[in-house]
Amino acid sequence: MSMPKTFADWQQLASQLKIETRAFIGGQYVDAASGKTFDCISPIDGKSLGKVAQCESADVEIAVKAARAAFDAGEWSNASPARRKKVLQKFATLVESNLDELALLETLDMGKPIGDAMSYDAPATARCIAWSAEAIDKVYGEVAPTGPGELGMITREPLGIVAAIVPWNFPMVMAAWKFAPALAMGNSFILKPSEKSPLTAIRLAQLAFEAGIPAGVFNVLPGFGKEVGEPLALHMDVDGLVFTGSTAVGKRLLQCAGLSNLKRTYLECGGKSPNIVFADAPNLDEAAKTAAMSIFYNQGEVCTAASRLLVERSIKDAFVSKVVEAGSKLQPRHPLDPGAQMGAMVDETQTARVLGYIEKARADGNTLALGGKRADVVEGGCYIEPTIFDDVKHGDTISREEVFGPVLSVIGFANEEEALRIANDSDYGLAAAVWTRDISKAHRVARKLRAGSMWINYWDGGDMTAPFGGYKQSGNGRDKSLHAFDKYTEIKATWINLDA
Ligand code: NAD
Repeated sequence: MSMPKTFADWQQLASQLKIETRAFIGGQYVDAASGKTFDCISPIDGKSLGKVAQCESADVEIAVKAARAAFDAGEWSNASPARRKKVLQKFATLVESNLDELALLETLDMGKPIGDAMSYDAPATARCIAWSAEAIDKVYGEVAPTGPGELGMITREPLGIVAAIVPWNFPMVMAAWKFAPALAMGNSFILKPSEKSPLTAIRLAQLAFEAGIPAGVFNVLPGFGKEVGEPLALHMDVDGLVFTGSTAVGKRLLQCAGLSNLKRTYLECGGKSPNIVFADAPNLDEAAKTAAMSIFYNQGEVCTAASRLLVERSIKDAFVSKVVEAGSKLQPRHPLDPGAQMGAMVDETQTARVLGYIEKARADGNTLALGGKRADVVEGGCYIEPTIFDDVKHGDTISREEVFGPVLSVIGFANEEEALRIANDSDYGLAAAVWTRDISKAHRVARKLRAGSMWINYWDGGDMTAPFGGYKQSGNGRDKSLHAFDKYTEIKATWINLDA
């Protein structure tokens, strides 16, 4: 356990940090084959953290060759589950012993509050690796029900080479949800972090190698979507592709799989999640605080952000006042301030995108109840006030499109039927919540909501034990839990003639 740190401690640590910026291929750090780099800009103050290797298709070729050679050599792919477990457990321990550094890198790179990176991102990464390690030697095959003359065995085998393309909002955790089960099952892995947040992925590669994951089994290729992501998605020797990011890019990746080798492709995409509050919610004060946290946490850059608050009309105005009060206390602060509950947006592009949605919502005549502007926190940084629109018309852009920023749309409803109609009338189906004291109503509504994660009288419950993923255009496949292992294995049926 590291000691609690002050704002000054974190600033000092940041000034001393030595940041690795090269790709990791075949067990070593390397520059991009072209020698190109791109600037890694911190959204805290707009300053550069370093020049990161800008990989392209030539680097993809080198990494795929290294990954294939490692897979065929079998040191990892054929290692006993007990051996892989031990190595991954050590990897988890190394993550735990470098918690401060990993959390700091995450905060500097993408602007989230250091308190969140320390309480969630870094430890959740370690937990994910440890959980997957623990599971490896508990995943059994099956024996088919047969007559006495034959034996049918159903076994799992690693896919081969798995490529992962991940986003910038939880860079470490989103990567770990992919690489931990993929490595556990014996695959070779190529990670493409977002160009907006490559630093923790680059650091994790070295920890994996130090833990004993053989050269070529865990590779990291920083770079841009078109230059690294697409060549991976189109590659004929990549067997599996796992993605977390926007629905638009997810659709393109499915096309790439179809245009190449039909690689197994699993997507975790966007959301526009409804948070439904009935007048008989058990504790309206708690529900209001949670409604605010569940949209403003991580600056609203959360795939499951509760971005649509549906409130029963009889309590709407009083409830919205409480949410506004709770939200107004969550103003962005310097992300290295341990008291910050909101930090910086990931970059200028995302800041401009979110401010554009706010302008559009105002132009469409929605009522601004809180915020609505850029916040002046640190010169050169990217900050937006927590923002709430009340009386949003269901169907307006702000109620339909994923903003991926600290912007809440409040929509009133008259009864259960109307709440369900509005909630389900979305292209997305990632998460949903319902607040009511009435257990029958809670179950009824939960059953009818089309969402992969469902919460009753809270938001964002869940850990490694339960699957996570979306219905509809929020994606396919599931991260976390034993269900995730399905994505990283082929299932083989072997029949033996016992009468031969
Ligand atoms: P994005 O789709 O723009 O980028 C995600 C990744 O895809 C990045 O690494 C990017 O470089 C890469 N990429 C971009 N274009 C590509 C292309 N043509 N080919 C291959 N790769 C390409 O998403 P983002 O802005 O980084 O992240 C925000 C999105 O991620 C939101 O929609 C959010 O909901 C979603 N998200 C979903 C989950 C989930 O589990 N469902 C979790 C976190 C974020």
